[in-house]
Amino acid sequence: MRFDIVTIFPKIFSAQGGSASRGDSCGYFGASIIRRALKRKIIEIKIHDLRDWTIDKHRTVDDTPYGGGAGMVLKLEPIWRCIQVLSSKFKVQSSKSRIILFSAKGKKYTQKDARRLAKYDNLIFICGRYEGVDERVVKYVADEEISIGDYVLTGGEIPAMILVDSITRLLPGVLGNPKSLEEESFGKIKNSGLEYPQYTKPEKFNGWNVPKVLLGGNHQKIKKWKERKARSL
Ligand code: SAM
Repeated sequence: MRFDIVTIFPKIFSAQGGSASRGDSCGYFGASIIRRALKRKIIEIKIHDLRDWTIDKHRTVDDTPYGGGAGMVLKLEPIWRCIQVLSSKFKVQSSKSRIILFSAKGKKYTQKDARRLAKYDNLIFICGRYEGVDERVVKYVADEEISIGDYVLTGGEIPAMILVDSITRLLPGVLGNPKSLEEESFGKIKNSGLEYPQYTKPEKFNGWNVPKVLLGGNHQKIKKWKERKARSL
């Protein structure tokens, strides 16, 4: 799986000067499961500075909105140039590519979308900024417009990290124990869609005890308890 992230703030993805793509930086992609997936070459992450696709000497990526209104809007042409190059490069190898624009007005992202998108070979993410992106990107460039929730962020970079994270952990070979995918919230064997409560040692702390059923070793009873608890969440 290859992720291409188009942003006007590429440094967000490479904290302290490391390379996010190799998983050796201190940023979000440089830790834990994502770092391991990068090191094992299960995923590849390429960060693209949108300004590299501008053609004026000021490297302009935004302009004022038609019809008036507050703030600036990301321009269509640099995004179009960038996506043309990225998607044609990838299409030589595979047609399983999807272009996603992040927007608060997009379709709300769920675990079902993570499973659907995990089937692609290449995901191209366009991170908006300022007042958003020229609507022609939605209409003519992107395959879909995704929102990560009903609130407004300053940019699409955090949504990009959220999709990379939630999709990567679904890819074969990424998690140590693939069974955890089935048992966790929104997994395939949950009745309610949510996971049962989890406990670990110590058994007693401050008078707060671990439920007795989990200590008894009766797997049948434990299974029933987990199902019941998951349902009641
Ligand atoms: N004017 C826009 C509106 O009212 O919906 C908000 C633009 S926001 C300040 C700038 C960018 O952040 C957006 O273009 C989008 O890429 C990203 N963004 C903000 N909230 C988001 C959300 N809930 N889901 C996905 N992306 C979001």
